[in-house]
Amino acid sequence: MTDDAGRIVIVGGGHNGLVCAAYLARAGRKVLVLEAAEQVGGAAVTREFAPGFRVSSVAHLLHALDPRIARELRLEQHGLAYARRALRTVSLGEGAPLVLDGANVEAGDVTPADRAALAEYVRRQQRFAAVLANQHSRIPSRLGAGFSVFRLFDRSANNRNTENPAPWSLAKFALDVRLLGRADMRELLRVGTMNLHDLLEDRFESAQLKGALALDGVLGARLGPRSGQTFFTSLQRAGAYALPRGGMGAVTGALAVAARAAGAEIRVASPVASFTLHGDRVTGVVLQSGEQIEAAAVVSNADPQTTFLGLVGARHLDTEFARRVLHIRSQGCAAKLHLALAGAPGFRGVPAGLLGERLIIAPDLGYIDAAFNPSKYREYSTQPVLEISVPSVHDAGLAPAGQHVLSAIVQYAPRDLAMGWSAGRAPFLEATLAVLTRYAPALRSQIVAAELLTPLDIENEFRIHGGHWHHGELALDQYMMLRPVPGAAQYATPVPGLWLCGAGSHPGGGVIGAAGRNAARAVLAGSRA
Ligand SMILES: Cc1cc2nc3c(=O)[nH]c(=O)nc-3n(C[C@H](O)[C@H](O)[C@H](O)COP(=O)(O)OP(=O)(O)OC[C@H]3O[C@@H](n4cnc5c(N)ncnc54)[C@H](O)[C@@H]3O)c2cc1C
Repeated sequence: MTDDAGRIVIVGGGHNGLVCAAYLARAGRKVLVLEAAEQVGGAAVTREFAPGFRVSSVAHLLHALDPRIARELRLEQHGLAYARRALRTVSLGEGAPLVLDGANVEAGDVTPADRAALAEYVRRQQRFAAVLANQHSRIPSRLGAGFSVFRLFDRSANNRNTENPAPWSLAKFALDVRLLGRADMRELLRVGTMNLHDLLEDRFESAQLKGALALDGVLGARLGPRSGQTFFTSLQRAGAYALPRGGMGAVTGALAVAARAAGAEIRVASPVASFTLHGDRVTGVVLQSGEQIEAAAVVSNADPQTTFLGLVGARHLDTEFARRVLHIRSQGCAAKLHLALAGAPGFRGVPAGLLGERLIIAPDLGYIDAAFNPSKYREYSTQPVLEISVPSVHDAGLAPAGQHVLSAIVQYAPRDLAMGWSAGRAPFLEATLAVLTRYAPALRSQIVAAELLTPLDIENEFRIHGGHWHHGELALDQYMMLRPVPGAAQYATPVPGLWLCGAGSHPGGGVIGAAGRNAARAVLAGSRA
């Protein structure tokens, strides 16, 4: 047993684990990050997938990183630079592509009425998204038996931040909603749980515009445009898209530098096999190597199911709590395709100046709906929707001179594919390439190497149970004080000494960093109490 008793051990060096480590170390705590993989970053890394070709392996576009975190941790001073900010969206279709730059239609066959409707839609979406973004940086309030109005005013030490660490969070959220003003507040309450299909059909005429807007509500989710709450999920993607120079690994590389500069120790290739429990309290971890490390607190960046059912063990949990964790919806549906290309791909109607933008294949609502339907029956889509990036256009260092990498999120690819992914991999890859070559006819002849990561591969290689984008579906029944489950939604868990800091916690996935920052605040507040 090593002498690490005063330390906080963070299990996992994904971006949230690194953010949490940096804030805890800045607060003067002794921090040790244990990452199972050979490199830090989790699902936000850059890897070589073919000789000379590097790509952001899972997450590929940065759009939600909390600017406060970037500023407070001085990420740009620690090496984060951008190859390109504010990417436009280019929606590929049968005719000329539709080019969107925020609320503006730069090119495409769109009526003046649609242009005006888009400006209003984006204006409202940004206002609503700002309300959620405020909430992202707050620890959710705890509702339930421990909640009492009187406790809000009780500043005694044994009340401080333990029972309900953020009693005002929900009230602040309600106030933010109220401050939208009467018209926008009513609209938010009306559309907040609506499906995008109905909402967009109501507002717009252009089929291509509706398809492009609908993609934002379903990407990363196991939802189709007719699924409830897809307007809510679209709000999570309201930011501008950027390409970090060197891929997403540059973000987590800068976070690791920031954490180390603050005094945190980071060990890679150190998979944790289990937690040590004394009575019901977590007192440390056991590595797969057999090494035991003591800790004053353990913070888990692993997903909630891995954390509770794997590392703690269901037998140490209350039955009802274990049942809730078991039933978190966490079956991923997004795959990742990487192509090493001998030259720049030529997409029909896309001039060279637009090749480096965010390209999407979601030509209309019916197409997305049809792509989603098979996943309900645990089948993959034969006509998938795609979000494509050719980052080497802006970042030549990712590929050998004159060559390119193509990175695409491909939906729908259910983790629990009925035929199994050993049988499904080749035909799904073929279906995806067939869709791509419809828009880029010469693509196949340019392919030097291809890598397809199914949600099962993401589960195995990146240690995310279910391979889900958010470590668990981001839906209203798994949001705020319900995320990942009641009883563990304030980053503290029912297991004394154990905290959560990953995407499975509020506010969910995407490279945001808010879960890591909130968790650090909760740990510091809880350990003072
Ligand atoms: C296909 C796909 C595409 C995506 N695209 C985007 C995108 O373009 N933009 C975007 O913002 N987001 C995207 N996301 C979501 C984003 O990648 C994740 O939500 C985010 O990276 C989660 O970060 P995290 O730090 O919470 O967890 P993770 O990145 O999953 O990190 C958890 C870490 O814990 C480690 N770990 C787990 N178990 C152990 C153990 N026992 N011992 C030690 N270490 C352990 C893992 O190895 C990992 O490093 C995408 C997700 C998917 C699946």
